[in-house]
Amino acid sequence: MTDIQYRVFPANPQAHLFEVELTIQTPEPQGQVLSLPAWIPGSYMIRDFAKNIVEIQANDGQGAVELVRLDKQTWRLEPAEGPVTLVYRVYAWDLSVRSAHLDQTHGYFNGASLFLRVHRQEQTVHEMALVEPKSEVMGRWRVATGMPAQQVDKWGFGTYRADNYDALIDYPVEMADFQALDFAVAGVPHRMVVTGKVRFDQERLARDLTRICAQHIRMFHGDQAPPVSDYLFQTYAVGNGYGGLEHRNSTSLMCSKDELPQTRHAEVTDGYRRFMGLCSHEYFHLWNVKRIQPAAVAESDLAAEAYTEQLWAFEGITSYYDDLGLCRAGVIEATSYLELLAQNITRVMRGSGRKKQSLAESSFYAWSKFYQQDENAPNAIVSYYAKGTLLALGLDMEIRRLSGDRKTLDDLMRLLWLRHGKTTRPVPERGVERLAEELVGRSLQEFFDRYLYGTEDLPLAEWFRYMGIGFALRPAANAKDQGGAVRKTTEETPPRSIGARWKQSGDFVELVTLSDQGAAMAAGLSAGDRIIAIDGIQASADKLDELIASVPADTKVPVHAFRRDELMVFDLTPRAAASDTCDLWLLAQEELDPATLRRRQVWLNDKGNGA
Ligand code: ZN
Repeated sequence: MTDIQYRVFPANPQAHLFEVELTIQTPEPQGQVLSLPAWIPGSYMIRDFAKNIVEIQANDGQGAVELVRLDKQTWRLEPAEGPVTLVYRVYAWDLSVRSAHLDQTHGYFNGASLFLRVHRQEQTVHEMALVEPKSEVMGRWRVATGMPAQQVDKWGFGTYRADNYDALIDYPVEMADFQALDFAVAGVPHRMVVTGKVRFDQERLARDLTRICAQHIRMFHGDQAPPVSDYLFQTYAVGNGYGGLEHRNSTSLMCSKDELPQTRHAEVTDGYRRFMGLCSHEYFHLWNVKRIQPAAVAESDLAAEAYTEQLWAFEGITSYYDDLGLCRAGVIEATSYLELLAQNITRVMRGSGRKKQSLAESSFYAWSKFYQQDENAPNAIVSYYAKGTLLALGLDMEIRRLSGDRKTLDDLMRLLWLRHGKTTRPVPERGVERLAEELVGRSLQEFFDRYLYGTEDLPLAEWFRYMGIGFALRPAANAKDQGGAVRKTTEETPPRSIGARWKQSGDFVELVTLSDQGAAMAAGLSAGDRIIAIDGIQASADKLDELIASVPADTKVPVHAFRRDELMVFDLTPRAAASDTCDLWLLAQEELDPATLRRRQVWLNDKGNGA
């Protein structure tokens, strides 16, 4: 009998309640302390999972044992002889990859939402028993989890074992009548399960995933096997959704149904490219963050925030390799990759927050800023994903330049793996910077001071030129223009702009965000304002671009808008659109010296062995 056993039962799908029975064989004699995490690794925000516990009781076989509340997420059992069993119900109606979700169609949970931590017994083996729901309406459920099975039936219900508490909460569980794809990569069994009513091209997805996973394995290990004996992608396909969370030998994903590949589309749609990018991203985390781990996260008991300045490395470098990996694996073309990169640059350039917050600060304040963005975010913060991707690119370029093309960022990742991943020795603050310096044999202090700790704009034109890529910034042609992989000529009179993003909301155009450099904010408009008319003409989201374009230069026009229930009039003078939209393109071979051409080929087609 395992000392700590959890029995999970999808007790009441109508009310979205999981029932958990936790049996502790030998509770601490002075009173066993129990708690639920406040956050889940990979998602840097306090979520207070304990708030979803609806009822909780303890019993030692003789009768009830009192539970003393210590704080929002911690309890202490009155001293009792073992075994003690706690029974509690957890409300599970969060449609995301971070918590738990239960209805008649599926049951999904992360251990951080369901499993109370038995303090001072965290290192013991933890057992989980999954009980099959018996209900006609729920259909034939099966189980998909990365947790090692101990004794299960052919549907996957039964008992599982985790080596310790940290492991226990790192194997999310999906139970549903899902579709499953099995494929092998480097001799290791991989599986994707897809929950949701959707038809898609399973063969194509399995083929593309095989190539993407193989690419990342090759980069870290050459011909050797990856550090897992199996891997699981858990996908929940919904009408409209997006998200992913990495785990040690699995990942939970949420995607829109139209992002899954369709037989009728031979080409790679933008949606499918995004989904492959998400799979690639989470798979790369198998190394970068799950095994090459930031010390602050590794040492956290998940009760409160874990502060680190290194998320640029764990999320930014991962974001750099997610799309680059698609290109290197050959599932997208180089121009398609450049288009994604250009859109990423556009996102960074459109926020003046990049001049106020450094990447290191963005990482540190992830808890209160990046994860709690409001309408002012573009003016206040910079994304450690988007700008982190670009810093990774710059570092890759810098390593090539300083090593005379003998080393690349791939070598830094392999070095990180050897020093920190394989050895499971967490990465201290500034550890990635120190290893990069070791790799190139000189100080990179100035580079990191400027671009990681400072807010100077990145010298992208210079970096791309070195990689054989053309780079230009120009004004957006319209509200949908995110930049791309075609060199666009700039028009003589740049388009005008109000410096805002908007959406249709009923009969109104609702302002979503306003740039602190833009005409709308200068006119006194605010996020949430609902525009009725510009210059006396009815506004609509689709036509707003045209309406603004029709205003002659330096001309003031009235804007009628509701703020809450009050009608207000503003004087708006549209301005020339800022050059914040990026185009990237492959420079023609004859424009490049042989070393640059070779460098570009290695960068985009590298098979991961430095060849
Ligand atoms: Zn990530």
